[in-house]
Amino acid sequence: DAEDGDPEARALAAKLAAYRGVWVFVEQTEGEPARVSWELMGKGRELADTLGVPLSAVVIGSHVEELCYHSFCYGADQAYLVDEPVFRHYRTEAYLKAVCRLIENYQPEIVLMGATGLGRDLAGAVATVVGTGLTADCTGLGIDDRRNLMQTRPAFGGNIMATIMCDKFRPQMATVRPHVMPLPERVEGKSGPVIRVASGVKEEEMLTKVLAVVSDRNRDHVDVAGAEFIVSGGRGMMGKENFVLLQELADELGGVVGASRSAVDAGWMPHERQVGQTGKTVRPKIYIACGISGAIQHLVGMQDSDLIIAINRDPDAPIFEVAHLGIVGDLFQVVPALTERLRSL
Ligand code: FAD
Repeated sequence: DAEDGDPEARALAAKLAAYRGVWVFVEQTEGEPARVSWELMGKGRELADTLGVPLSAVVIGSHVEELCYHSFCYGADQAYLVDEPVFRHYRTEAYLKAVCRLIENYQPEIVLMGATGLGRDLAGAVATVVGTGLTADCTGLGIDDRRNLMQTRPAFGGNIMATIMCDKFRPQMATVRPHVMPLPERVEGKSGPVIRVASGVKEEEMLTKVLAVVSDRNRDHVDVAGAEFIVSGGRGMMGKENFVLLQELADELGGVVGASRSAVDAGWMPHERQVGQTGKTVRPKIYIACGISGAIQHLVGMQDSDLIIAINRDPDAPIFEVAHLGIVGDLFQVVPALTERLRSL
C-alpha cells in the first residue's frame, strides 16, 4: 500500500493516479449508434460522478460528429472525435490503432464498450496492446473505496457471480451486453467540448479492405433483445410445431417469441431467439416463460424484465422464484386460453 511507505507500492499508486476519467466507446454502423453505447453512458455517468472525474465519449468513424452531440444528451461531459474516411467501415486494425493512440495520449482510468460483435473484437485487441486487463460481459459495475472498478459477471457457467478488479493496470476495461444497463433519460440541447484527434492511420497501410457490405437476408431478423413483449418456450413445448401457440400469443401482445437453450439445441428455434447467458439479455415489459424450468443460465438473461409470468406444470420449478405471476398448469391448455382471452378484449 502507498500508505505503508513501501516504495514499490508508492510507485504503482503514482502510475495508476496518472490515469483519470471514464470513457465510453460510442459504437456506430454507417453513423447509426448502437443503443448499448447510450446504456453505458448512463452507467459511465454514475461511475464518473462517484470518482469525481469527467465522462468522455469516444467517437470514431467517418462523418460521425453528430454522435458527439448525442453523447452529450446522454450524459457525456466531452467527446474525443476521430473522424476520417479510413474509419467508414469497422476494421479491427484501424480502430485498434485509433483507440490505443487516444489511450496513450489521454490516459483514462476506465474504458467501457458494448459486448457486441464489434465491441468484443475491439476491446480484447485494445486491452492486449495497451497491456491491461479486460472483464467481458459484465452485469454490474461499481467503484470500491480505493477507486478501483468492481466488475461483476457470471462465472462457472453462471453458478456464481464473480467480482473482478484490475488493481495494478490502467485503464480498467469492461464490456457490457446490450440491455443489461437501463437506457438513461435523454436530455436535449446539452453540449460540451469536442476534442478532435488525428488518428495517424493511413489507408495504404491497412491489410484489409472492405469491398462491399452485403446484408444477410437469410438471417432471422426478429429482435428479441429489443422487444417489449416476449413469449419464450422451453423443452416443455415438446416440439417445433407447438411454437405456433407461442407465436399466436406473441402476436396478440405485439411481441416476439424467444426460447431457452434446450429449445434451441433441439432445433425448434434459431439461436438468434435464445435468451440467457449464451444467448440474448432481454429487459421487456412482459416476459412469459412457457415450459421453462428456470436454470440460472436462463435467468441471467431475463430476470430484469419488468413483469415475469411463468407457466409450468411443476410447482417447484425454479422459474417461480423470479416470476411475479405464476401459473401452475399445462401450457397446452393455459397458452391457448390466454390468447383467446386477449383476442376477446
Ligand atoms: P428444462 O430444464 O428441461 O425444463 C423444462 C420445463 O418444462 C420443466 O420445468 C417442466 O416442468 C416444464 N414442462 C414440461 N411440460 C410442460 C407442460 N406441458 N406444461 C407446462 N410446463 C411443462 N439455457 C438457456 O436457456 N439460455 C442460455 O443462454 C444458456 N446458456 C448456458 C450456458 C452454459 C455454460 C450452460 C452449462 C448451460 C446453459 N443453458 C442455457 C442451459 C441451462 O442450464 C438449462 O439446461 C436450460 O435453460 C433448460 O431449458 P428448459 O428450461 O427449456 O428445459
